[in-house]
Amino acid sequence: MKAKKRVLSGIRATGRLHLGNYLGAIKGMLALQADPDYETLYMVADAHALTTPYNVAELRQNRREVIIDYLAAGLDPQKSIIFLQADVIEHFELAFYFSSVTTIAKMQHLPTFKDKVKQHPHHNSMALLNYPVLMAADILIYHATDVPVGVDQKPHLEVAREIARKMNATYGTDFPEPKMFATKGEHVPSLKGKGKMSKSVAGSYINLTDDLATIKKRLADAPTDSGQGEKLPSSGGVANLLTLVELFQGSQQRQKYEAQYLSTGLRYDQLKAKLAQAIYQELKPIQSKRAQLEAQPAYVDKVIASGAQKARQLAQQTVKDVKTKLGLG
Ligand code: AMP
Repeated sequence: MKAKKRVLSGIRATGRLHLGNYLGAIKGMLALQADPDYETLYMVADAHALTTPYNVAELRQNRREVIIDYLAAGLDPQKSIIFLQADVIEHFELAFYFSSVTTIAKMQHLPTFKDKVKQHPHHNSMALLNYPVLMAADILIYHATDVPVGVDQKPHLEVAREIARKMNATYGTDFPEPKMFATKGEHVPSLKGKGKMSKSVAGSYINLTDDLATIKKRLADAPTDSGQGEKLPSSGGVANLLTLVELFQGSQQRQKYEAQYLSTGLRYDQLKAKLAQAIYQELKPIQSKRAQLEAQPAYVDKVIASGAQKARQLAQQTVKDVKTKLGLG
């Protein structure tokens, strides 16, 4: 029998999940979970939340909320190992070993590092600098080859590949070079017309827990134009709305709107109302599953405990092997 390929992905426990997380990461996680060729491990990246300013009580709650979001969205503990990153301490040990083959200059030049330093100039921490090294450990500790993440994570995956190559060449380890597993929603745009949908930018996102009225309100605030022109806008509020239409209502609906824009004109109130409905239709079953899970705290505890145990078993083997190869065992 052919050995299964491993998959690892995670979402930081920094707040409610939004459509960007859902389309960019969770949809890919679900696709791979359903594929019998893959063994899937999905973690909540709770320790990664320490790389930017955070509140202890909120983190304690968020890490559990993301597990509930995973389960509500369809991740299945019978098919995937679902766990909290901080429960598998071997990730941090491996990250330290990996930091010995990683230069400071390389980390400082990553666009994600520069962005975060700009956002939080007083939290320019070693943990932030080391984020991609810990992410490499998260992936390589399971010898994962496929990583369903949004396109913003590409530079981090490049770091993981480089670390794998260096470790293999220097110490004779057998890490694969992991690659991104892309979904149609690999870049979900911001509702504000610029950049990506992100929980750290107010007004940019729609949360998975939003009801129809909230979705309508958030879309109502998205910037538009007169609705007519000789050329379709390639960036900005309208372009972003059309991307969301394509993602939730399909490319045919997008083309219809585009044709209207170039001829009789586009009515944004109607477009937004229909888009809100389509988004809500997709989120409704996730929200009802979530309500059921909130009433079953013992079940959620069980999923977390059993995920940690399974993940640790695999992680310990890798760390043991690496320690020996490094001359530490
Ligand atoms: P984060 O919230 O930064 O931990 O991101 C969790 C996952 O969601 C990662 O795989 C990201 O690439 C993905 N993600 C976050 N925002 C977006 C977005 N706007 N479009 C597509 N994927 C995203």
